[in-house]
Amino acid sequence: MLILVLNAGSSSLKFNLVNMEEEKTLAEGIAERIGLSEGFIRWTIQGEKGRLELDMANHKKALSTIMERLRESVLHEDQDVAAIGHRVVHGGPNFSASELITPAVLAEIEAASFYAPLHNPPAISGIHTAQELFPGVPQVAVFDTAFHHNMPEYAYTYGLPYELSERLGLRRYGFHGTSHQYVAERTALLIGKPFGEARIITCHLGNGSSITAVHNGRSVDTSMGLTPLEGVVMGTRSGSVDPGVITTLLEQEKMDGPALASLLNKRSGLLGISGVSSDCREIEEVMDHNPRARLAHEVLAYGVLKYIGSYAAAMNGVDAITFTAGIGENSAPLRSWVCQRLAFLGVELDETANHTRSKADRTISAPGSRVPVAVIPTNEELMIAREAKRVTTSTEACPVI
Ligand code: ADP
Repeated sequence: MLILVLNAGSSSLKFNLVNMEEEKTLAEGIAERIGLSEGFIRWTIQGEKGRLELDMANHKKALSTIMERLRESVLHEDQDVAAIGHRVVHGGPNFSASELITPAVLAEIEAASFYAPLHNPPAISGIHTAQELFPGVPQVAVFDTAFHHNMPEYAYTYGLPYELSERLGLRRYGFHGTSHQYVAERTALLIGKPFGEARIITCHLGNGSSITAVHNGRSVDTSMGLTPLEGVVMGTRSGSVDPGVITTLLEQEKMDGPALASLLNKRSGLLGISGVSSDCREIEEVMDHNPRARLAHEVLAYGVLKYIGSYAAAMNGVDAITFTAGIGENSAPLRSWVCQRLAFLGVELDETANHTRSKADRTISAPGSRVPVAVIPTNEELMIAREAKRVTTSTEACPVI
């Protein structure tokens, strides 16, 4: 069974073709600068890298070019894509699991654009494109928010007037759910505890970052909120700030909504603090002689430390701490900064293991560490493919027009 996974951004389209018998990625890549000039598609098909420069007016042009490449290489005539899984960032108030896309589901994803105006519209365009190019093939929406949907009410409620929150759906939704679920399941396997009985803190640290408390197989708290702006500092996003900062900027700097959104999403975080870069690797390259780069790194690491401490309290203990995504998987200095300050929990890092590069799931804590620390490479695409398979093989899948 072949599943195509699509992740559509405003000017990009990521794709993965997964063979579900072996859970193996046959082809993956990205089309970039869609709708802009000088677009290109990069791919790896069965280990071979390729690149094509072309102007792509829209997602349809990008996806049809990708499909031509796949049909010339891995996707032979007798093989069909059995289902398509779409990453959808925001599921809004009603989706607690992946959904077969019907007109009603699509309408609800459109309504959830209210909360994610930058993310959901491109996903909708990706869905429309795939429906046009693959008529009759079932399509599944996999939401970043779904894993967090059943957090306790006290964890997702903001201190705002209750009726207002209810009317507008203002609550903590959380994101990166497929990644947190995937790495938490892998961590449970690694430490030999049933997923349904473990307390795991997962730190997904990339350009966007979030931390999640996973208790007995469920997300019980997470650092991102109504939008992916809340939580620790990120590449260019501020993370949590005192809401009074917003009112001060509105009043004193006469900023309006779009100016504020741009400041908080694009000019803050590691970039804003360091003045150097939004990229953690570049920050680490200069932080020995650049105090603001050092400060940016410490603000991120300290934020991660505080979430781990509070989630250990939320779960009355912790059985494992896991790092994943670009920074979590690769930054030994950041993991070291955080874990050295977790001695009170019984965490003891093995610095040699911490500095050893590997693409495998692994522990980086010392054998005697009371709480194991793991590094697990995330694989959101595989999770989306699994969900697309589960939904289309367990439901009477009736494809949409
Ligand atoms: P996204 O959230 O866009 O998927 P990634 O998960 O790819 O992002 O993470 C990108 C981040 O990972 C960047 O800040 C990058 O600098 C960081 N990163 C990647 N490799 C390293 C490394 N070796 N050391 C430190 N940071 C790294």
